[in-house]
Amino acid sequence: MPAHDVLIIGAGLAGQRAALAAARAGASVAVMSKVHPVRSHSVAAAGGINAAISVDDDWRSHAYDTVKGSDFLGDQDAIEIMCSEAPAEVMHLEHIGVTFHRNEHGELDLRAFGGASMKRTAYVADITGQAMLHVLYEQLMRHHETVERYEEWFTTSLQLDEEGRCCGVIARDVRSGKMEAFAAKNVILACGGAGQVYKPTTNGLIVTGDGIALAYRVGAPLMDMEMVQYHPTTLVDSGILITEGARGEGAHLLNSAGERFLEKSAPNKMELASRDVVSRAEQIEIDEGRGVGPDGKGVYLDVTVVPRRRTLEALREIVNLGKDFAGVDITREPITIRPGQHYIMGGVKTDVDGRTPIEGLYAAGEVACVSVHGGNRLGANSLLDTLIFGRRAGEHAAARAASMGMPEANGTAQLRRDGEVISAIIARPREGRRVSEIKNELGEVMNREAAVFRSGEGLERARETIARLKEEAQMAWIDDRGTVFNQDVLGAIELGYMLDCAEATVLAALERTESRGAQYRTDFPARNDEEWLKHIDVTLTAGGPELSYSPVTITQWQPEERKY
Ligand SMILES: Cc1cc2nc3c(=O)[nH]c(=O)nc-3n(C[C@H](O)[C@H](O)[C@H](O)COP(=O)(O)OP(=O)(O)OC[C@H]3O[C@@H](n4cnc5c(N)ncnc54)[C@H](O)[C@@H]3O)c2cc1C
Repeated sequence: MPAHDVLIIGAGLAGQRAALAAARAGASVAVMSKVHPVRSHSVAAAGGINAAISVDDDWRSHAYDTVKGSDFLGDQDAIEIMCSEAPAEVMHLEHIGVTFHRNEHGELDLRAFGGASMKRTAYVADITGQAMLHVLYEQLMRHHETVERYEEWFTTSLQLDEEGRCCGVIARDVRSGKMEAFAAKNVILACGGAGQVYKPTTNGLIVTGDGIALAYRVGAPLMDMEMVQYHPTTLVDSGILITEGARGEGAHLLNSAGERFLEKSAPNKMELASRDVVSRAEQIEIDEGRGVGPDGKGVYLDVTVVPRRRTLEALREIVNLGKDFAGVDITREPITIRPGQHYIMGGVKTDVDGRTPIEGLYAAGEVACVSVHGGNRLGANSLLDTLIFGRRAGEHAAARAASMGMPEANGTAQLRRDGEVISAIIARPREGRRVSEIKNELGEVMNREAAVFRSGEGLERARETIARLKEEAQMAWIDDRGTVFNQDVLGAIELGYMLDCAEATVLAALERTESRGAQYRTDFPARNDEEWLKHIDVTLTAGGPELSYSPVTITQWQPEERKY
């Protein structure tokens, strides 16, 4: 059986950064990914990464903006770590080869982003994630002697030993269909978010909440799952993202009367208020009949106010996206956008070293909840989160590995069980519903009932629908009966992961009877610090999901009214 000191599931930015850190610390490392590493969803990240690099800036200002952006639900000890370590991490990236944009003086250029009190977002045009991911992959190649790569391997379950410690995983080789058990002293989940739970979403088809569900199924608590971010600027039909970098460069948002409606809700920051605030403002314009587009379901993003030369230099990817997916030249006319699902603030609960309450199991990146984003993530803080906590998890796991022997993982029974589950899915009769139909219904109900505005009644409807879909998913059928690259069968497993994530989100959203950050309850429109300045944890028990609370860590910033 393959055995490693540190086995990382996920080769996006969090996974690759963890691998690099663990390899540098001398551990034997393996990275497993269901797609080729540079196709991980981090490659889509566009606008940039935050760090208080400017001489006029201070990490405390970044930390305060993050705390305020989180609507005071973020844990301030973790936020302090992330923001204080950010400048060195970004400079490290520069030194290993990320070609960040520079200004005319040759210094790193920084752009404005939402919720930030000054320009602090470093960027590579609007392909920042791609630039970072490729450089990290190149770095991993340098450690090829100690870093094994399982590319196009799909993890089906986590293995725990008799004491409840994580000691490996079971996985399927996507190319051949072969199942294999892997032993590991430590497993780091870096599997990304769960955007596909929603339809539409800015997230790619591979972002299906696998890591969240894998951890949940072995009893790890999930935290802040009700906090789902809607990005203010996504294309109306496809949900494709138009980066916040556009507003950072000065683009305006307009309603059907040509008004910059952010004047009403965020007169100081306008289009650069935090994402929850801007998305709500847009949804109000749409719901109250001041929308644009065929059904009035969008508002205008006007990039024409940005000098054309600058747009072509710093936002070239969205110029292409506008043309290809909406038939609009954004340098010459406004484009119709609306709020769309983008990111989940919640995930597997960890400490600041990525440790979950299950010994030997770590999580980092979008799969995890440290919680640095609390109720609402600031744009360009996620790439930072992946790197800082990916590195810390890698370092901690490597140190733990050095102090222990290889666990006696005997995955034979679990390996057989996972294999049988897959065979049973392939053998299902072609009756009832297809996997894709259930997935579509899930995405639509979540986008209707667990979106920018939510109510108790709507969330109850979502809960009932998810329960029914869970039943139907037990017998959902697929076309492909083969073993080689059978993405169909993996889709059926992913559907199960997504349903688990959706259930946790809806249960937590029902529980939180207040409005904070991305959770706006129309039946409880006020923030209620007295009762709800706390995290909601969802844990899977033998009797089903159970909810509990954990305190918010406050170090230096007391909750106050949040105005932009
Ligand atoms: C369009 C878009 C633009 C964005 N722009 C920005 C930005 O400018 N700045 C910013 O800060 N944030 C941005 N974000 C958010 C940010 O990109 C993500 O939160 C972050 O990249 C997630 O990285 P990750 O390493 O946690 O996960 P990912 O990059 O999603 O990687 C997940 C990895 O897990 C693997 N995996 C998953 N399940 C399994 C399984 N079952 N078995 C094996 N492997 C598995 C995948 O193959 C993949 O390698 C953007 C997001 C989107 C969607």
